[in-house]
Parts: sequence; structure tokens; C-alpha cells
Amino acid sequence: LIQLAMPLNFMGMIYREIKQALIDIDDMFLILHRNPEIADRPGATALKAQGGRVEFRDVRFAYDPARPILRGVSFTVPAGQTVAIVGPSGAGKSTLSRLLFRFYEPQGGQILIDGQDIAAVTQTSLRAAIGMVPQDTVLFNDTIGYNIRYGCWDATDAAVREAASLAQIDRFVSALPEGYDTPVGERGLKLSGGEKQRVAIARTILKGPPILVLDEATSALDSFTEREIQDALDKVSRGRTTLVIAHRLSTVVNADEILVLDKGVIVERGTHQNLLDAGGVYSALWSRQREADAALAVLQGVDEGR
Ligand code: ATP
Repeated sequence: LIQLAMPLNFMGMIYREIKQALIDIDDMFLILHRNPEIADRPGATALKAQGGRVEFRDVRFAYDPARPILRGVSFTVPAGQTVAIVGPSGAGKSTLSRLLFRFYEPQGGQILIDGQDIAAVTQTSLRAAIGMVPQDTVLFNDTIGYNIRYGCWDATDAAVREAASLAQIDRFVSALPEGYDTPVGERGLKLSGGEKQRVAIARTILKGPPILVLDEATSALDSFTEREIQDALDKVSRGRTTLVIAHRLSTVVNADEILVLDKGVIVERGTHQNLLDAGGVYSALWSRQREADAALAVLQGVDEGR
């Protein structure tokens, strides 16, 4: 009987490992929005990312041929610089980041990284070069340490803590009774939107990619959390090519260039000050956001005064 129990026990262990791996793969597919129609081209080579210069050349794209989303978009993010994309809801901002990851293929134009067309490189090498801080981070039902380390399995505990500290989540985690071993997700601790975003920032810091895509949260965060996240993002984007998909305007003020996307075309571009002076779409968006923020501050004040 003992002779039978050992292999059964072993098989049980293997089964659990495989099941966990499948759950993770499943979650990764969700995270990656993987599109089965996109495959590596025959003879695709690995992307050689150096500085991480990103160039969109006359990119045209539609999810549904009857409804064009991008109608000829061209811009460059020089290596190490930050470009922010702003514009009304539905303008196609997040679509730009999905195309950069090659979740979809443009119907016209080209996207290049360090001069290489992303359609001609392997998807693995492309995605290894880009770090994504998404709007909504999917956390695995595991510890907070596991969630930060995700994908960088050889990172030491010290490196995980260092990344968490840069992402401004270390103090929060250290204060938990089980620290980095605290389970999170459905069956564990529930993290707020801001905390989840900082976990994603820490994960990206560990990965250390040359290109960063920050998809800013659509929902309003309180001003303290927003400042903490902003500080963390500033640290992680320093020296990396950064594309900020800004659904709010607070993160764009210091960008090297701001692009205003409207109905699938870039209608304005420049620095924050240039665009305010121009008195166009950006300046109108900015005034509207300021009014909304002021109203929110009054509401929060009323709430705190209760
Ligand atoms: P927001 O600031 O509200 O997030 P956005 O500028 O990021 O907006 P996108 O997410 O790029 O907008 O979407 C652009 C348009 O494409 C929207 O009208 C959206 O409904 C549509 N769209 C987005 N994803 C898909 C999809 N998978 N299939 C079909 N249409 C889509």
C-alpha cells in the first residue's frame, strides 16, 4: 500500500502544479487580451530594443470596418522621453496601446520600435520590451509578494521590497500582520484601485523594460492616493520611453509632449503650457477637469466634515 501511496501523492502534487499553471495561463490570457488571429510571421526575429524609441507612422485601424477608430496617426516617442495621449472618451487612446502590444494589427501604416516594425518581430520579444501598468490590475489568488514578483521568478526578496518601496506600497504591505505573505484576491485581502495599481507599478519596476505604457485609471482617486501614484510613476518612468494613456489630465503636465486625439486623428500637440496658450481642445478639456476636481474636493470636504 505504501508503494502505491507514494506515486499517488506525487501525481497529486503534479496535478496541483499543472492546475495552478493553467489558472495562471488563463489569467495571463485575460491580462494580455490575447488575440488568436495574431501570430508570429514566418521568420520573425527577436526585437532588439535599445533605447526603446517608439514610432507610429500613419496608423489606421478599425475594430469593425464600418467604424474607423484611428484615421492616420503619426507620432514619435524619443528614447527615454514621455509622451501623453489625451482626448475625449472613446477617441481611441487605449487602442494605441493595444496596437503597440500587437493585440491587434493596424490596417494601414506601421509601428516601429528602435526602427524595427513590430509586425516582423516575435511577440515574446515585443512584450518583454514593454511594461504595462494597466487601469485595472488582475491580481492572482496568492500572496502579495507573489503578485509583485509575477513574471520575475528569480527576483530576490530584497529586490521585491525595493520595487515595492519605489512603488510606494512597501509601508502598506509591511504593516500587514503577514507582510508580503498576506494572501490577496478573491479569497484574501481586497486591495483598493490605487493599491492594485501600485502593485502593478512594483511588478513593472522588477521587470525593468525599456518601454512603459501607463494606462491611467479612469475613475477619480482621492488626491492623496493620486499624488502617491504620481510619485511612483515619475520614479518608474525616469529614463524609460513612456507612453501615458491619460483618461484624466493630472499626469500629463510634465510630459515632454502631449498629443490630443479626437475622432481618430491628432488634433493638437505640444507641451502643457503651449497647449494652454493655444486655447484649443486641450485647454477646454483642462478647464473642464479643473471644475470637476474642484467639485469633487468640495464633496470630499463635506464628507470629511460629517
Ligand atoms: P476612454 O478614455 O473612455 O477609455 P479611449 O480613448 O481609450 O476611451 P478606446 O478604448 O481606444 O477609447 O476605444 C475607442 C473606440 O473603440 C470606442 O468607441 C470603443 O467602444 C471601441 N472599441 C474598443 N475596443 C473595442 C473592441 N474590442 N471591439 C470593438 N470596438 C471596440
